[in-house]
Amino acid sequence: MRWFTKWRRERVLSRSALDDTLWRHVTGRYPFMRALSEEERARLRAWVVLFLHEKTIEGAAQLAVDDEMRACIAAQACMLILNLDLDFYRGWIEVIVYPDEFVADYEYVDEDGIVHHVQEPMSGESWLEGPVILSWADAAEAGGDSGYNVVIHEFAHKLDMLNGDANGFPPLHGEMSRTEWSRAFGAAYDAFCQRVDARQETRIDPYAAESPAEFFAVLSEAFFEIPHAVRGEYPEVYGQLAAFYRQDPAVRMAP
Ligand SMILES: [Zn+2]
Repeated sequence: MRWFTKWRRERVLSRSALDDTLWRHVTGRYPFMRALSEEERARLRAWVVLFLHEKTIEGAAQLAVDDEMRACIAAQACMLILNLDLDFYRGWIEVIVYPDEFVADYEYVDEDGIVHHVQEPMSGESWLEGPVILSWADAAEAGGDSGYNVVIHEFAHKLDMLNGDANGFPPLHGEMSRTEWSRAFGAAYDAFCQRVDARQETRIDPYAAESPAEFFAVLSEAFFEIPHAVRGEYPEVYGQLAAFYRQDPAVRMAP
């Protein structure tokens, strides 16, 4: 199958074009993309073309999604797999974009068998083997120095869900250690939750204290957007993320 994937991808790449001006505009918009080398940027562009070919990005609630919005979403999503493979996004095809926060409306059954009906405003959502849902208003905020990035957040959940429900434990590469991952993330998560409970100011979004799954997704946002903050506060987590994403954004970006 390998040769077939390669052949199919080369065909897509040779037939699809991404407008140069649009591409320059998109990569210029985010500091973490501006920091890429020429070679990395060319690789990102190829992933984006393939991503746009394999996935659909459609608007909801009357939002008209244009080429620039599609490219912005695809480029951020592909930052996570820059040194991995598009195959890490296998098993689903849809990205749905709302103009602003949307209301998640669902039911779940708790441990006592009680059914809860939940309606809450969301900026993004990832479904297991289903769509990624994004609020464009939130997505457009990315690239500042807050470390907030809903697109990276939701696609990190997608990677986490490659081995089932999101739990902060994505499938690791062969050269990585599950013990070291657990130790690094476990210690950092406990320390972070204590700080949030004590109402201390944190450079990392306090939403990370919600669960180990959210901790992984929020730390992934920060890893790409404000890598020096992650490396400074949680060097072991930074090391695990660098091994997982096979990237070292702190070296790439100026502090
Ligand atoms: Zn989340």
